Formats: sequence, C-alpha cells, structure tokens
Amino acid sequence: MRLAITGGAGFIGSAAVRLLAKDGNAVLNIDKLTYAGCIESVKEVSALPSYSFLHADVCDAAAISKAFEEFRPDAVMHLAAESHVDRSIDGPMEFVRSNVLGTANMLNCSLDYWRKLEGEAKSRFRFLQISTDEVYGSLGPEGLFSESTPYDPRSPYSASKAAGDHLAKAWFHTYGFPAFVTNCSNNYGPYHFPEKLIPLVTLNALDGKPLPIYGKGDNIRDWLFVEDHVRALKLVIDKGQPGETYNVGGSNERTNLEVVQTICATLDELAPERRKAGLKSYADLITFVPDRPGHDQRYAIDAGKLKRELGWQPQEDFESGIRKTIKWYLENAWWWQPIRERKYSGQRLGSGASK
Ligand code: NAD
Repeated sequence: MRLAITGGAGFIGSAAVRLLAKDGNAVLNIDKLTYAGCIESVKEVSALPSYSFLHADVCDAAAISKAFEEFRPDAVMHLAAESHVDRSIDGPMEFVRSNVLGTANMLNCSLDYWRKLEGEAKSRFRFLQISTDEVYGSLGPEGLFSESTPYDPRSPYSASKAAGDHLAKAWFHTYGFPAFVTNCSNNYGPYHFPEKLIPLVTLNALDGKPLPIYGKGDNIRDWLFVEDHVRALKLVIDKGQPGETYNVGGSNERTNLEVVQTICATLDELAPERRKAGLKSYADLITFVPDRPGHDQRYAIDAGKLKRELGWQPQEDFESGIRKTIKWYLENAWWWQPIRERKYSGQRLGSGASK
C-alpha cells in the first residue's frame, strides 16, 4: 500500500513508519518536527527507497495537496498532533491549531484528492483519524468506554482531539468521504518522548532524580504496547468500515503508582549497578507531587468490537511490554540523551500556574 503518515517522527507515528515500511508498504512521512518530532526515530528505515519524508505542517493546504498529487496515497494515517495533556494546560492554542485546524485541513485536502480518483483507486482510499480514549472523559471505578460512550473531554488536549474526531465523522456523513476514527488508550514503548510518564520515570530513576507521582498515584490508565496499536491501525485501514469508530486498548489497567513500582522493580533487576549509591531500590526515589488540574480518574477501553469484527489481538501484555521498553531505554541512550540535554530535562509541566 501507499501510506501517507502524518506525525511520523513522533512516538506512535514513528512506530507506524518503521513497522509498515519494513512490511513493504511505500510510506510518506509528513511531519513539522515540533519539539516532539525526532527524525532519528525512523533511522532504521530512512534509507529504504520506499520511504520519503516531507517537512510540513498539517495546516499547510498547498504543501499537503502537492504531496498527495506526487505521492498518490491509498490511505492517510493522521497522527500528527500536539499530544501532551500537561502542555495543553499551559498553552492550549497550539493544540487547537494543530489538532482542530490541522485535522480539518488534512480532511479537506484528502477530500479534494479523493474526488479526483477513479474506479478501484477511489473505492480503496481510506482516511484514518487516530485519536484517544481521553475524548470519553473520566470513568468511576466500574465500566469501560465503548464506541457509543458519549464524548465528554476535560482537558484542552482531549477537547481538541474530540473536535478532530467530529470533523472526520462530518466529512464521512456530509461528503461520503471514507474516513474512520480509532480511539486508543495510553501507549508505551520505545522512542517515547521523555516527558511522558513511563520514559520520564525510567530516565529520572537512572539519573537518581526524584520520581514524581501526581496526587496519590491512584489514577488508572489502560496501557497498550505501541506496536500492538500500529497493527490495529493497519487492520482498520485494511478491513474497517468507513464512518465507524474502533476502540483500541490492551485491558491492562494499572494505577500510576503500580506503573512506577513496576518500572522500579524491573530496573532493580536489569540495572542494579546503575542505582545511585545508598538506595536499596529505585522505588526509594518515588515522591508525591500536587495533582494535575482536572486529572481524569480512570480510563479503560472495551476493544471487543475491534477483536470481534476485525480479528485484532494484542501480542504483548503489560509485563512483557514494559520489560521490552525498559531494556530499549537502557540500550539506546543515543536516542534519549540528546533530547534530555537539549529539549526536555524532566521539569514539571502543566501546573496551570502559567495560564
Ligand atoms: P507525539 O507528540 O509523540 O508525536 C506527534 C508528532 O506530530 C510529532 O512528530 C510532531 O512533530 C508532529 N506534529 C505536531 N504538530 C504538527 C503539525 N501541525 N504538522 C505536522 N506535524 C505535527 O504524539 P504520539 O504520542 O505519537 O501521538 C500520535 C497521535 O496518536 C496523536 O494524534 C495522539 O492524539 C494519538 N494518541 C496518542 C496516544 C498515546 O498514548 N501517546 C494514545 C491514543 C492516541
């Protein structure tokens, strides 16, 4: 297939680029390279003749339309977005620009391109809006998000993603444009930008720095290994019904405190020699900090539709996936060291004080 992937220098986008390019698809990676974009993340496929890169903003209609005319995609996987909830609290407008206007522009350019296609090329074309379970709001102790759960976003990030999802559905209903939406739970894995919980805790622990836990650490997230997410996305493009939503999740609910304790226990086993002198366990570095404003209590996904209708099954559970991830961080300082030195060194974001 010929796949245009936006945000392909980001965490999930780069996993999609690596996996799908290695699988023999032609890939055009479209990315603005914001602070979160790391082109080194696709180094292992960037020399393939089937891989190309366009440095562009998803809000730039001329650049996107020209790229479509030249590359002639069979499908668009739209991942480019501002993605960090804490940053959306400090600076919401960039989230509205990239996630709302950028998605509208991607849909519009894709619609123009699709309308000019004919026959098999037209009937095969797909647009996948990749979104988050955070659009559904927050759960109490019971229940799961399903595809019919009403949207109830709480942060500037989730509200901007919700807007993008509504636009994709509107393009389907209004223009018959073959778009669909996936809503996925928290991803983790290699090449995850070190502002997010799992890499932040892993790298702070190796540096002997405090491991910050918001509030009491009892907020619950449902974790999915990033490559399982990418396999779900490709399956939806291959077999999904336009106009539909598919939830993606690994049924791996953990409190934030459990996640951090698992990371510490895994590091105690894999890297005891790197533990700061005087510590019995990396867990001695855990510190509780004031909670994130508007912190959703629990997210949990029912991925039954994706399993029943499209035959998806995750290959990793949390224990196997977190082990792979931590091993990767231990072996790949070349990737994260320059980011920690130049782009983000682990300071607190999103207290709401700067807004
Ligand atoms: P990320 O922040 O790691 O990567 C985002 C990428 O998009 C970066 O490479 C950045 O340079 C690029 N980008 C940002 N604004 C752009 C713009 N205006 N034009 C072009 N490129 C731009 O994000 P991620 O964690 O890989 O998430 C990717 C997508 O998946 C997002 O849409 C996010 O909402 C969604 N998602 C993420 C998770 C998760 O757990 N990380 C879960 C569900 C859904």
